[in-house]
Amino acid sequence: MIQQKFSAANGDVIDAISRFLAAPPEGTPAEVIEAFDSFGRGQFLPPKLFLETVEQAPVAISITDPAARILYVNQAFESLTGYHRDEVIGHNESMLSSRSTPIRIYQELWETIQARQVWQGTLVNHKKNKEEYLAELVISPVLTAKGEIGYYLGMHRDITAVHQLGQQLKFQTSLTEAALDAAPMVMAMITADRKVLMDNHAYKALLGDCRGVEPVELFLAALEQQIGFDLADACRTGKGFTNVEVRLDLAGRATPRWFACSAVRVDELDEAAQNYFREQQQTRYCLLLIANEVTASRKRINEVRLNMIRASMAEQQMVETMREAISGAMFKMQVPFNIIRAALAMPGNGSDRCNVCQVLNQALESGDEAMESLQAALPNRAREQTSTVNINEILHEVMRLSTDRLLASGVVVDWRPAAVLSRVTGRPNALRGLFKYLIDNAIQAVNESGQDYREIRLKSWQDEQELVVEVTDNGPGIPDAKRLKVFEPFFCGWARADEHAGMGLTMAQEVIVGHGGNMEIDAGFRGGCRVLVRLPVKVAEER
Ligand code: FAD
Repeated sequence: MIQQKFSAANGDVIDAISRFLAAPPEGTPAEVIEAFDSFGRGQFLPPKLFLETVEQAPVAISITDPAARILYVNQAFESLTGYHRDEVIGHNESMLSSRSTPIRIYQELWETIQARQVWQGTLVNHKKNKEEYLAELVISPVLTAKGEIGYYLGMHRDITAVHQLGQQLKFQTSLTEAALDAAPMVMAMITADRKVLMDNHAYKALLGDCRGVEPVELFLAALEQQIGFDLADACRTGKGFTNVEVRLDLAGRATPRWFACSAVRVDELDEAAQNYFREQQQTRYCLLLIANEVTASRKRINEVRLNMIRASMAEQQMVETMREAISGAMFKMQVPFNIIRAALAMPGNGSDRCNVCQVLNQALESGDEAMESLQAALPNRAREQTSTVNINEILHEVMRLSTDRLLASGVVVDWRPAAVLSRVTGRPNALRGLFKYLIDNAIQAVNESGQDYREIRLKSWQDEQELVVEVTDNGPGIPDAKRLKVFEPFFCGWARADEHAGMGLTMAQEVIVGHGGNMEIDAGFRGGCRVLVRLPVKVAEER
């Protein structure tokens, strides 16, 4: 009976209700009569208004009995499903099922609504014309005054288009991700506050090699040092860059890795609800960083460079050896000359009439001439131009140059470079010579110790405006009493002293002082020798 009244909703509902209330059919539930009565008593909005609201609601509404038999559907239900209300009333809602929804979904639906709770989910329905659609459905139990389930209120809308859009988006996303992952270059999307929003397989592989340090941090630090790149500024102004070569020295790897980096700004749309109506949306910008590994080609270039360095260092070493030998000879010749001068200066000596004195004076004169000839024979050091250098690169080259000696001596090299180092202004050849000298010393020390396990540790790091290089060996070490003496010219403390003139550390110190730095032998270190070289990061000009 009530079903018929609902189906005639387009008519004069108030009249119908009034007639209904005047003579309610036998068996009409008391709560129904009570509900209609309360409208009449003005406690609620008039039923006509309610009915029209439901009738014209833009969402498909249906009311069923507890067995899901349809009692009422609105206009939106008719237009969505294509069924006229007369064709559905009295039938089970299952008439909408396209039989594609798994049974477990219905079981869950019924368990929920029978437990007097609201069920919300998606079902595959079909329309009268058999066209399938996705129904986003909410079913709410309507309880009687006794708390029993009297009806179910169902509301659903067609979300097929939304689903299709979602699927397309998923496809696009997986396509983009697949393309990114298949790309051999490292890619990462970074926010202005250095968070990684998205990355690819190559990036994750590099993350593993960086032992947990975010590669983006290393790239940004290197770019900052090399081209003064500022991430926040680039996100604001949109200024990217292309093909900037960056060197990363990763701990535990014997060779550095090189990347050609490019970056482009990308807009990140604002998702915040409160900004939905803002005319000028606060667009956030990100940076897409692309790093193409060029280590292989860089290695080939470096090999050629290393050969050139090897040749120039051999020449430099020859000059230094000759200078050492001549300086040593001059130093030793000074000793007898000084004795002669002292003898001539003694009271009673020095007279031109004394034959011995005349001979001694002649010896001094020819000695001075010989010294002048030796001085003139001292080969000049080539004047080297300063340039900006990467100390890790210098150390790495020196290790490559010393490889044969290291292998022959069975020395294990523990190479611990700072992943990124500021560049310093300096004379590359002089610095190479300096570190080569320290490594050669370390090899000699471990050889002289005669122990089986021979290790040299090379470590670099940056302390604010200072670069520190540590060269440690597990040789016999330098006794405290000789720690300062070793820097004196012609001092030689090696067991096999015949091969050395004792000028190496003096010249090494000259180079460091020339770069505004200093060198010390770590007094606190035991079990070998540790030399610490400190170089200032900003040396405008070599002194
Ligand atoms: P059924 O045998 O009817 O149901 C499958 C399983 O559901 C059963 O094994 C059982 O576990 C459970 N179940 C079904 N009826 C009952 C019941 N009366 N009491 C307890 N458990 C039961 N279905 C749609 O496909 N599309 C709709 O748009 C839709 N809208 C609905 C709106 C409302 C308000 C309600 C109450 C139900 C709606 N349903 C809808 C569910 C529908 O009534 C059917 O349960 C469903 O379509 C499955 O029908 P079936 O004939 O395949 O299997």
